[in-house]
Amino acid sequence: MTDKVVVITGGSRGIGRATALAAAARGYRVVVGYASNQAAAKEVVAAIEARNGKAIAVKCDVGSEQDILALFKAADGFGTLGALVNNAGIVGKSGVRVDEMSAERIQQMMAVNVTGSILCAREAVKRMSTRHGGQGGVIVNLSSVAAKLGAPNTYVDYAASKGAIDSFTIGLGYEVANEGIRVAGIRPGLIDTDIHAAGGEPDRAHRLAHMVPMKRVGTADEIANAIVWLISDEASYVTSAILDVSGGR
Ligand code: NAP
Repeated sequence: MTDKVVVITGGSRGIGRATALAAAARGYRVVVGYASNQAAAKEVVAAIEARNGKAIAVKCDVGSEQDILALFKAADGFGTLGALVNNAGIVGKSGVRVDEMSAERIQQMMAVNVTGSILCAREAVKRMSTRHGGQGGVIVNLSSVAAKLGAPNTYVDYAASKGAIDSFTIGLGYEVANEGIRVAGIRPGLIDTDIHAAGGEPDRAHRLAHMVPMKRVGTADEIANAIVWLISDEASYVTSAILDVSGGR
């Protein structure tokens, strides 16, 4: 498995970046997807290559089916696909109630977080399923504890998109369970990344840390460690399962 290709959407920063480094350290060939920050993606590839790992950066906005097809074409040229990490995700501006949300915001949220993840999974299943002549593999979907909490007065649209990811993880897992593919989800809690700044609240994770039973934010590495365990053979009997990595939140 570890000589196979892992495609990580949104691998240029945050949890995706940490996962790219952790997967490369275990010997996987890493395809680092990114939306627009080419410099960050190139830095991840350089960091992997500096440690004698193998990686390529591929521009892929998961809101675009064309970009997704190009991402998997590039992955095909890099080796045999063994895993997909559906990590790319966005939040809208924090603190916007549903009765204030624009249709464009909600559509963008669903296009990136939900449709993008399902389309990437489609391409992965076509390549990994024994039904299609593949050798099996693993899909890990990034959800959020927001799927359980609903994120009222913060970003209900984001929470709903992650609820969809939870259902998708369970359903797809059952669909391909007998075709060599495991599907698992991770629900991170408050993790110290740029995503909070993207929602207009850079210190959000630290501000809310007191609400976490462990009384601290999590790191991108702590999520990455769970992801690389799920894609490894050590998790060989785990499918249609969702793991909270949230300090108890
Ligand atoms: P982040 O630090 O904001 O990084 C986002 C990554 O996704 C970047 O690599 C970015 O690429 C990429 N990206 C953004 N929009 C994209 C698009 N349309 N298509 C493809 N890639 C796109 O985010 P993060 O905190 O690491 O979050 C990663 C995942 O974990 C997300 O699914 C998020 O919902 C989930 N999560 C995070 C937390 C948390 O507290 N951080 C909690 C729960 C769940 P560029 O570098 O090119 O912009």
